[in-house]
Amino acid sequence: MIQMALRSGHGRLLGRVRIPEALRDDYAAFVLKRQERTTLPALMVGTAIMVGLFALDCWIVPDVLGMAAAIRFGIGLPIAAAFYIYLYSGGRPLWMHYAIGGSTALLFGTLACVLVVNSYAPLAPMYLTANNVTVMFVVIILGFPPPFAAAMALAIIVVQAGVLSMSHAASVTLLVLMTGISLAIAAAGLYGNLCMDRDRRLQFLSKHRDRQQLRALASQNVLLERLSALDPLTSLSNRRGFDAVMASAIADARAEPATTAVALAMVDIDHFKLFNDARGHVAGDAALRAVAEALSGAVGEHDLVARYGGEEFAVVMPVTEPLLLEMVAARLRAAVDRLYLDHPSSPTARNITVSIGIAYADRTSLPGLTPQVLTEAADVALYSAKNAGRNRFVIRACGTDLEPLAVNAR
Ligand code: GH3
Ligand code: MG
Ligand code: MG
Repeated sequence: MIQMALRSGHGRLLGRVRIPEALRDDYAAFVLKRQERTTLPALMVGTAIMVGLFALDCWIVPDVLGMAAAIRFGIGLPIAAAFYIYLYSGGRPLWMHYAIGGSTALLFGTLACVLVVNSYAPLAPMYLTANNVTVMFVVIILGFPPPFAAAMALAIIVVQAGVLSMSHAASVTLLVLMTGISLAIAAAGLYGNLCMDRDRRLQFLSKHRDRQQLRALASQNVLLERLSALDPLTSLSNRRGFDAVMASAIADARAEPATTAVALAMVDIDHFKLFNDARGHVAGDAALRAVAEALSGAVGEHDLVARYGGEEFAVVMPVTEPLLLEMVAARLRAAVDRLYLDHPSSPTARNITVSIGIAYADRTSLPGLTPQVLTEAADVALYSAKNAGRNRFVIRACGTDLEPLAVNAR
């Protein structure tokens, strides 16, 4: 949609870039922001010019100098100042910016005309050329949308023509000359206005497109980040996810006094190579998925089951009572055992079983604990479980060579 809109302005001299319906409000807010930056300086410059022209009044229309002073300093300046203060406090709607810009320009133009009508000075009618500054303001400087700019320019030129025909030195030649010059200036300015309007629209659309692309990229990044921590076969956390969770579990356990220990269980499928050899890798993959699901269902909501690698799983557990680990280990072992996945070539059982090594670190060993230390301790416990005959668990306290806390023998 945006791409089409961006293309719509290319290739044509006065081609207008269409803002899609859905973006109209955003575009209005964008224009308002720009207008808030431009109306006040334009008002200030316009007022400075209007006041500064008093120097020319002294020279060109000296017979109405008192009126010129009253008009410029007594009417133009206070009104412009009031508008300025009103806009300066901010929060004004877009139409108010246009209304103030437009009415100030019309006011300044009309005030200049009043001087010309009342002056008998020979050059007075020519003085209306100064009005072309006002024309430039409405078509270019005030940043009006093209139709409004055109209408304002026309209004100023019509007022000017009316004044000229009422002035003391009115003539058709003068009227045609002055109006023609003003129209030419307005036409040139309007072309500039159209170009600026098109640039404004293109800038808005490309900014919007950039923002959309950034948002899409950010959500893709979040998705990729999540996927990169997942194991595609089992949908469990992979090694990467495990490392992150393990590190934060240790940090959380240190920070949370209610957590008395952090435990890691390494779960290894028994004789899985034989299973693959007998039933093939596709069945092996299905068994891995089933074991992953069983393990996930057997742990608490604060525990994380990850695929550590191959046929090995890891369970990270914040623990409030190490003695309860025995129950958790028994649940994990039983959950796999109860899948009754036939494993006829296993020397251990008729079905797929797991050996589990659990290591835990209590509060005394938490300060110096690293994920590596806990993993090594869990590996030692797993090795013990394997050596003791498989399909069982061994639980050890981390950093001690003491007897295991619990060894189940089946
Ligand atoms: P142990 O009881 O001593 O653990 O014996 P094991 O056969 O399970 O251990 P071993 O390390 O000898 O073999 C692991 C097997 O796990 C070998 C490999 O084919 C299998 N394996 C590892 N990853 C995958 C996988 O993604 N899919 C399948 N189907 N098999 C896998
Ligand atoms: Mg293994
Ligand atoms: Mg194994």
